[in-house]
Amino acid sequence: MKNVVLLGSTGSIGASTLQVVEDHPEELRLVGLAAGTSVEALLQQALKHRPEAVCLGDESRLAPLREASEGMRVVGGSQGLIELAEWPSADIVLIAIVGTAGLRPALAAIRAGKDIAVASKEILVMAGEIVMREARKHGVRVLAVDSEHSAIFQCLDGKPQESVRTLWLTASGGPFRLTPKSEFSSITLERALKHPSWVMGRKITIDSATLFNKGLEMIEARWLFNIEMDRVQVVVHPQSVVHSMVEYVDGSILAQLSTPDMCLPIQYALLYPNRVRSERVQTRLAQLGTLTFEDPDPARFPALDLARTSGRTGGTLPAVLNAANEVAVEAFCQRRLSFEGISSTVARVLERHQVVANPSLEEIFEADSWARRMSEDAVGNSRDKDI
Ligand code: NDP
Repeated sequence: MKNVVLLGSTGSIGASTLQVVEDHPEELRLVGLAAGTSVEALLQQALKHRPEAVCLGDESRLAPLREASEGMRVVGGSQGLIELAEWPSADIVLIAIVGTAGLRPALAAIRAGKDIAVASKEILVMAGEIVMREARKHGVRVLAVDSEHSAIFQCLDGKPQESVRTLWLTASGGPFRLTPKSEFSSITLERALKHPSWVMGRKITIDSATLFNKGLEMIEARWLFNIEMDRVQVVVHPQSVVHSMVEYVDGSILAQLSTPDMCLPIQYALLYPNRVRSERVQTRLAQLGTLTFEDPDPARFPALDLARTSGRTGGTLPAVLNAANEVAVEAFCQRRLSFEGISSTVARVLERHQVVANPSLEEIFEADSWARRMSEDAVGNSRDKDI
């Protein structure tokens, strides 16, 4: 039996994780649940799963939880998240909080000797070097929840990085894979929110449309698998059946395949190293018929080059990329910025950043705040120009 703390339980990954736990009552038990503001949803989950502790980011809304959750510890805010991350009975902490709020809890869990399962990309993008160093020091595992990294992890199966020629991340290509460049200036929020293969939270759905999601994943892969940026490549695969691949030095390529369902990589991370029976995913290759692959188009999707440069440079630059993108996506969702404005805003902010090499956590957070301010300015300036 593994005891699981789930941070971000009311989101899209959170919902899939609860399904996995329900599928495996003999193997998995929830001991902690955390959400940001959705107090009602968290309360329902707590009443159903009876964890030992719950945490809500918004401390002003704790009352209903306190009233209804007898025998459970109820905590709030960022300190509450840390308490859950260090929860004594937890074996593994799955972090699926959107944004940067997952980074400190991830480090707290590692330092408390817990394995972590990482969905929140920000953790490894911002502080991959620190997180992986701490994990080595404390002898804990950093397991991937993202389907691409889970696929690579499964294909690598413990092989050393010297045996790898290239890690191939597959990208669905998003809703604008076939859209000509001339139409990019008229892309609306509604169109960007329609992902062809996955149902996900809003931020990651927009990131999938710009391919920033893949860019962030390239940086994550670089740290998770301890490999240089230039050996991490992207290939567009619209069917989203091959979740990613490892090309070995002898030319062999190993791939992991299944119909898209986040429950599969979540289950693999939570139950690792065991493979446990589940009927949820049934892949019929003959019915799928054709699997296709194509190169991504850097002219329509500049996010990939921006991410590669950031990952190659390292230091505080990936944190700046992540923060600038977050601000730009939010501005796009509020209709304050065009779709193309997302990558041009990020590019402008990256150009202005003075990179700090081997940064401390504080320097990473400073770079994050700086990038947010600069991006807001850049969004304001691009609006002035549009008007
Ligand atoms: P959602 O927006 O659906 O969910 C985010 C979750 O985080 C919610 O439970 C939210 O709570 C919670 N949350 C936000 N802020 C806080 C906080 N301060 N304290 C505690 N909880 C908080 O996002 P997704 O599930 O789609 O994605 C989560 C992460 O996983 C992202 O980093 C994403 O990139 C990554 N990911 C997602 C995939 C997917 O298929 N969705 C695939 C791979 C990675 P509330 O509801 O109360 O706001």
